[in-house]
Amino acid sequence: RIAYVNGRYVRHAEAAVHVEDRGYQFADGVYEVCEIRDGFLTDERRHIDRLIRSLAELRIRMPMSRAALGVVLREVVRRNHVRDGLVYLQITRGVAPRNHPFPSPETEPALVVTAKSVPRSVHDHSAETGIAVITLPDNRWDRVDIKTVGLLPNVLAKQAARDAGVYEAWLYDADGNVTEGSSTNAWIVTADGTLVTRPAEHGILRGITRTVLMEVAARLGVKVEERKFSVEEAKRAREAFITGATTIVTPVVKIDDQVIGNGAPGSVATALRKAFHDSAERAPRW
Ligand code: PMP
Repeated sequence: RIAYVNGRYVRHAEAAVHVEDRGYQFADGVYEVCEIRDGFLTDERRHIDRLIRSLAELRIRMPMSRAALGVVLREVVRRNHVRDGLVYLQITRGVAPRNHPFPSPETEPALVVTAKSVPRSVHDHSAETGIAVITLPDNRWDRVDIKTVGLLPNVLAKQAARDAGVYEAWLYDADGNVTEGSSTNAWIVTADGTLVTRPAEHGILRGITRTVLMEVAARLGVKVEERKFSVEEAKRAREAFITGATTIVTPVVKIDDQVIGNGAPGSVATALRKAFHDSAERAPRW
Protein backbone atom coordinates (compact mmCIF):
# COMPACT_ATOMS: atom_id res chain seq x y z
CA ARG A 1 0.00 0.00 0.00
CA ILE A 2 0.99 3.59 -0.71
CA ALA A 3 0.22 6.76 1.25
CA TYR A 4 0.72 10.43 0.42
CA VAL A 5 2.53 12.37 3.15
CA ASN A 6 3.38 16.04 2.65
CA GLY A 7 4.28 15.93 -1.02
CA ARG A 8 5.56 12.37 -1.24
CA TYR A 9 4.11 9.00 -2.10
CA VAL A 10 5.59 6.57 0.40
CA ARG A 11 5.11 2.96 1.44
CA HIS A 12 2.14 2.82 3.79
CA ALA A 13 4.09 0.83 6.36
CA GLU A 14 6.66 3.63 6.55
CA ALA A 15 4.30 6.60 6.24
CA ALA A 16 4.87 8.86 9.26
CA VAL A 17 4.44 12.41 10.48
CA HIS A 18 6.66 14.39 12.84
CA VAL A 19 6.25 13.96 16.62
CA GLU A 20 5.44 17.67 16.84
CA ASP A 21 2.70 17.58 14.23
CA ARG A 22 -0.16 19.52 15.85
CA GLY A 23 -2.58 16.83 14.78
CA TYR A 24 -0.67 14.37 16.92
CA GLN A 25 -0.28 16.70 19.91
CA PHE A 26 -3.55 18.67 19.93
CA ALA A 27 -5.88 16.92 17.45
CA ASP A 28 -5.46 20.26 15.65
CA GLY A 29 -6.67 19.14 12.25
CA VAL A 30 -9.55 18.03 10.07
CA TYR A 31 -10.31 15.06 7.85
CA GLU A 32 -12.61 13.67 5.19
CA VAL A 33 -13.57 10.17 4.16
CA CYS A 34 -14.89 9.67 0.64
CA GLU A 35 -16.34 6.51 -0.84
CA ILE A 36 -14.66 4.97 -3.91
CA ARG A 37 -17.04 3.06 -6.14
CA ASP A 38 -15.97 1.51 -9.45
CA GLY A 39 -12.79 3.54 -9.09
CA PHE A 40 -14.67 6.86 -8.92
CA LEU A 41 -14.92 9.19 -5.93
CA THR A 42 -18.50 9.58 -4.71
CA ASP A 43 -19.58 13.20 -4.07
CA GLU A 44 -16.01 14.50 -4.12
CA ARG A 45 -17.15 18.08 -4.70
CA ARG A 46 -19.28 18.10 -1.57
CA HIS A 47 -16.55 16.47 0.53
CA ILE A 48 -14.04 19.11 -0.56
CA ASP A 49 -16.58 21.88 0.09
CA ARG A 50 -17.02 20.56 3.63
CA LEU A 51 -13.25 20.22 4.07
CA ILE A 52 -12.78 23.86 3.08
CA ARG A 53 -15.47 24.89 5.56
CA SER A 54 -13.89 22.83 8.39
CA LEU A 55 -10.49 24.39 7.64
CA ALA A 56 -11.97 27.90 7.57
CA GLU A 57 -13.71 27.40 10.94
CA LEU A 58 -10.34 26.45 12.48
CA ARG A 59 -8.34 29.01 10.47
CA ILE A 60 -6.10 26.35 8.93
CA ARG A 61 -4.83 27.10 5.44
CA MET A 62 -5.80 24.82 2.53
CA PRO A 63 -2.35 23.39 1.67
CA MET A 64 -3.00 23.20 -2.08
CA SER A 65 -5.66 24.05 -4.63
CA ARG A 66 -8.81 21.97 -4.97
CA ALA A 67 -7.59 20.78 -8.35
CA ALA A 68 -4.21 19.69 -6.97
CA LEU A 69 -5.89 17.93 -4.07
CA GLY A 70 -8.12 16.13 -6.55
CA VAL A 71 -5.02 14.88 -8.38
CA VAL A 72 -3.47 13.61 -5.13
CA LEU A 73 -6.67 11.80 -4.09
CA ARG A 74 -6.90 10.06 -7.47
CA GLU A 75 -3.22 9.20 -7.47
CA VAL A 76 -3.48 7.52 -4.05
CA VAL A 77 -6.58 5.61 -5.19
CA ARG A 78 -4.79 4.58 -8.39
CA ARG A 79 -1.55 3.53 -6.71
CA ASN A 80 -3.51 1.36 -4.28
CA HIS A 81 -5.63 -0.20 -7.07
CA VAL A 82 -8.82 0.66 -5.18
CA ARG A 83 -12.02 -0.08 -7.12
CA ASP A 84 -14.37 -0.15 -4.15
CA GLY A 85 -13.30 1.31 -0.84
CA LEU A 86 -12.43 4.58 0.82
CA VAL A 87 -10.02 7.45 0.49
CA TYR A 88 -9.03 9.25 3.71
CA LEU A 89 -7.47 12.70 3.86
CA GLN A 90 -6.26 14.65 6.86
CA ILE A 91 -4.95 18.19 7.12
CA THR A 92 -3.37 19.45 10.33
CA ARG A 93 -2.01 22.84 11.30
CA GLY A 94 1.46 21.46 10.72
CA VAL A 95 4.66 20.87 12.65
CA ALA A 96 5.77 23.41 15.27
CA PRO A 97 7.28 23.39 18.79
CA ARG A 98 4.49 22.39 21.17
CA ASN A 99 2.59 25.46 22.36
CA HIS A 100 -1.17 26.01 22.42
CA PRO A 101 -1.45 29.21 20.33
CA PHE A 102 -1.32 28.92 16.55
CA PRO A 103 2.26 28.59 15.26
CA SER A 104 3.83 31.21 13.02
CA PRO A 105 1.88 31.83 9.80
CA GLU A 106 4.70 30.32 7.69
CA THR A 107 4.04 26.89 9.24
CA GLU A 108 2.94 24.62 6.41
CA PRO A 109 -0.25 22.64 7.04
CA ALA A 110 0.40 18.89 6.82
CA LEU A 111 -1.56 16.74 4.36
CA VAL A 112 -1.86 12.97 4.54
CA VAL A 113 -3.91 10.80 2.16
CA THR A 114 -4.51 7.05 2.36
CA ALA A 115 -6.84 4.71 0.50
CA LYS A 116 -8.03 1.19 1.10
CA SER A 117 -10.19 -1.38 -0.61
CA VAL A 118 -13.40 -2.45 1.10
CA PRO A 119 -15.31 -5.15 -0.78
CA ARG A 120 -18.92 -4.10 -1.38
CA SER A 121 -20.07 -7.37 0.15
CA VAL A 122 -18.95 -6.18 3.62
CA HIS A 123 -21.53 -3.40 3.82
CA ASP A 124 -24.09 -5.13 1.64
CA HIS A 125 -24.19 -7.89 4.24
CA SER A 126 -25.00 -5.52 7.13
CA ALA A 127 -27.58 -3.80 4.95
CA GLU A 128 -29.30 -7.12 4.31
CA THR A 129 -29.43 -8.18 7.94
CA GLY A 130 -29.67 -4.72 9.52
CA ILE A 131 -27.61 -3.55 12.48
CA ALA A 132 -28.26 -2.94 16.17
CA VAL A 133 -27.38 0.26 18.02
CA ILE A 134 -27.08 1.24 21.67
CA THR A 135 -27.83 4.74 22.99
CA LEU A 136 -25.43 6.85 25.06
CA PRO A 137 -25.31 10.45 26.29
CA ASP A 138 -23.61 12.77 23.79
CA ASN A 139 -20.68 14.23 25.71
CA ARG A 140 -18.90 15.94 22.80
CA TRP A 141 -18.12 19.64 22.46
CA ASP A 142 -20.62 21.92 20.74
CA ARG A 143 -18.76 22.31 17.41
CA VAL A 144 -19.17 18.80 16.06
CA ASP A 145 -20.22 20.42 12.78
CA ILE A 146 -16.45 20.79 12.19
CA LYS A 147 -14.97 17.50 11.01
CA THR A 148 -11.95 17.50 13.33
CA VAL A 149 -9.68 14.57 14.11
CA GLY A 150 -10.51 15.14 17.81
CA LEU A 151 -12.70 12.04 18.01
CA LEU A 152 -12.09 10.65 21.49
CA PRO A 153 -15.77 10.75 22.58
CA ASN A 154 -16.70 9.09 19.28
CA VAL A 155 -14.02 6.43 19.81
CA LEU A 156 -15.29 5.67 23.33
CA ALA A 157 -18.90 5.52 22.12
CA LYS A 158 -18.00 3.19 19.24
CA GLN A 159 -16.04 0.95 21.61
CA ALA A 160 -19.00 0.85 24.01
CA ALA A 161 -21.08 -0.31 21.03
CA ARG A 162 -18.53 -3.00 20.18
CA ASP A 163 -18.40 -4.08 23.83
CA ALA A 164 -22.19 -4.45 23.68
CA GLY A 165 -21.78 -6.54 20.51
CA VAL A 166 -23.43 -3.97 18.21
CA TYR A 167 -22.31 -1.79 15.29
CA GLU A 168 -23.08 1.76 16.33
CA ALA A 169 -23.88 4.01 19.29
CA TRP A 170 -26.58 6.66 18.90
CA LEU A 171 -25.84 9.69 21.03
CA TYR A 172 -28.54 11.76 22.73
CA ASP A 173 -28.55 15.32 24.10
CA ALA A 174 -29.65 16.56 27.56
CA ASP A 175 -33.31 16.51 26.41
CA GLY A 176 -33.13 12.87 25.35
CA ASN A 177 -33.10 13.73 21.64
CA VAL A 178 -30.87 11.75 19.32
CA THR A 179 -28.02 13.81 17.85
CA GLU A 180 -26.24 11.28 15.60
CA GLY A 181 -24.21 8.10 15.65
CA SER A 182 -20.53 8.02 16.65
CA SER A 183 -19.57 8.02 12.94
CA THR A 184 -22.92 8.18 11.12
CA ASN A 185 -26.08 10.29 10.93
CA ALA A 186 -29.29 8.92 12.48
CA TRP A 187 -32.72 8.68 10.84
CA ILE A 188 -36.14 7.24 11.60
CA VAL A 189 -39.20 6.55 9.47
CA THR A 190 -42.58 7.46 11.01
CA ALA A 191 -45.80 5.44 10.74
CA ASP A 192 -46.87 7.48 7.68
CA GLY A 193 -43.53 6.88 5.92
CA THR A 194 -41.92 10.29 6.60
CA LEU A 195 -38.15 10.42 7.08
CA VAL A 196 -37.02 12.28 10.18
CA THR A 197 -33.48 13.45 10.88
CA ARG A 198 -32.06 16.08 13.19
CA PRO A 199 -31.46 19.55 11.70
CA ALA A 200 -27.78 20.10 10.87
CA GLU A 201 -26.95 23.03 13.11
CA HIS A 202 -23.93 22.74 15.39
CA GLY A 203 -25.11 19.57 17.17
CA ILE A 204 -24.26 17.11 14.41
CA LEU A 205 -21.94 16.72 11.47
CA ARG A 206 -23.72 17.63 8.24
CA GLY A 207 -23.12 14.29 6.56
CA ILE A 208 -22.65 14.34 2.80
CA THR A 209 -24.60 11.09 2.61
CA ARG A 210 -27.36 12.79 4.64
CA THR A 211 -27.51 15.73 2.19
CA VAL A 212 -27.58 13.47 -0.86
CA LEU A 213 -30.20 11.22 0.73
CA MET A 214 -32.54 14.20 1.01
CA GLU A 215 -32.31 14.56 -2.76
CA VAL A 216 -32.89 10.82 -3.21
CA ALA A 217 -36.00 11.08 -0.99
CA ALA A 218 -37.33 14.05 -2.99
CA ARG A 219 -36.83 12.11 -6.21
CA LEU A 220 -38.67 9.08 -4.82
CA GLY A 221 -41.47 11.26 -3.43
CA VAL A 222 -40.61 10.42 0.20
CA LYS A 223 -41.30 13.26 2.65
CA VAL A 224 -38.41 14.43 4.86
CA GLU A 225 -38.79 16.35 8.12
CA GLU A 226 -35.67 17.91 9.63
CA ARG A 227 -36.55 17.97 13.30
CA LYS A 228 -35.31 16.56 16.57
CA PHE A 229 -36.54 13.12 17.64
CA SER A 230 -36.13 11.40 20.98
CA VAL A 231 -34.69 7.99 21.77
CA GLU A 232 -38.23 6.99 22.84
CA GLU A 233 -39.72 8.06 19.49
CA ALA A 234 -36.96 6.17 17.67
CA LYS A 235 -37.78 2.98 19.58
CA ARG A 236 -41.41 3.25 18.44
CA ALA A 237 -40.53 4.15 14.83
CA ARG A 238 -41.55 2.05 11.85
CA GLU A 239 -37.95 1.97 10.64
CA ALA A 240 -34.59 3.40 11.58
CA PHE A 241 -31.33 3.66 9.69
CA ILE A 242 -27.90 5.28 9.60
CA THR A 243 -26.08 7.13 6.81
CA GLY A 244 -22.39 7.74 6.17
CA ALA A 245 -19.81 7.52 3.41
CA THR A 246 -18.71 4.06 4.59
CA THR A 247 -22.17 2.59 5.18
CA ILE A 248 -24.35 4.65 2.75
CA VAL A 249 -27.82 3.66 4.05
CA THR A 250 -27.84 0.82 6.58
CA PRO A 251 -31.06 -0.25 8.33
CA VAL A 252 -31.19 -0.31 12.15
CA VAL A 253 -33.27 -3.22 13.43
CA LYS A 254 -32.68 -2.85 17.17
CA ILE A 255 -32.17 0.15 19.48
CA ASP A 256 -30.94 -0.89 22.94
CA ASP A 257 -33.24 -3.84 23.71
CA GLN A 258 -36.10 -2.65 21.52
CA VAL A 259 -36.67 -4.42 18.21
CA ILE A 260 -37.66 -1.95 15.43
CA GLY A 261 -40.60 -2.93 13.23
CA ASN A 262 -40.50 -6.67 12.69
CA GLY A 263 -36.77 -6.85 13.29
CA ALA A 264 -35.88 -6.97 9.60
CA PRO A 265 -34.61 -4.09 7.39
CA GLY A 266 -37.50 -1.82 6.42
CA SER A 267 -38.71 -1.24 2.88
CA VAL A 268 -38.06 2.52 2.94
CA ALA A 269 -34.43 2.22 4.05
CA THR A 270 -33.86 -0.58 1.56
CA ALA A 271 -35.34 1.46 -1.31
CA LEU A 272 -33.25 4.50 -0.36
CA ARG A 273 -30.09 2.42 -0.27
CA LYS A 274 -30.82 1.01 -3.73
CA ALA A 275 -31.51 4.47 -5.18
CA PHE A 276 -28.61 6.29 -3.48
CA HIS A 277 -25.95 6.03 -6.15
CA ASP A 278 -28.30 7.33 -8.85
CA SER A 279 -28.32 10.69 -7.03
CA ALA A 280 -24.72 10.70 -5.76
CA GLU A 281 -22.20 12.52 -7.92
CA ARG A 282 -19.64 10.32 -9.57
CA ALA A 283 -16.60 12.56 -9.84
CA PRO A 284 -14.57 12.23 -13.07
CA ARG A 285 -11.50 10.03 -12.78
CA TRP A 286 -9.30 12.91 -14.00
N1 PMP B 1 -21.53 11.96 11.82
C1 PMP B 1 -20.28 11.72 12.24
C2 PMP B 1 -19.93 12.03 13.65
C3 PMP B 1 -19.33 11.20 11.34
O1 PMP B 1 -18.07 10.97 11.75
C4 PMP B 1 -19.71 10.90 10.01
C5 PMP B 1 -18.75 10.29 9.03
N2 PMP B 1 -17.54 10.94 8.92
C6 PMP B 1 -21.03 11.16 9.63
C7 PMP B 1 -21.92 11.70 10.56
C8 PMP B 1 -21.50 10.89 8.22
O2 PMP B 1 -20.98 11.82 7.32
P1 PMP B 1 -20.76 11.46 5.77
O3 PMP B 1 -22.11 11.08 5.25
O4 PMP B 1 -20.26 12.70 5.17
O5 PMP B 1 -19.80 10.34 5.74
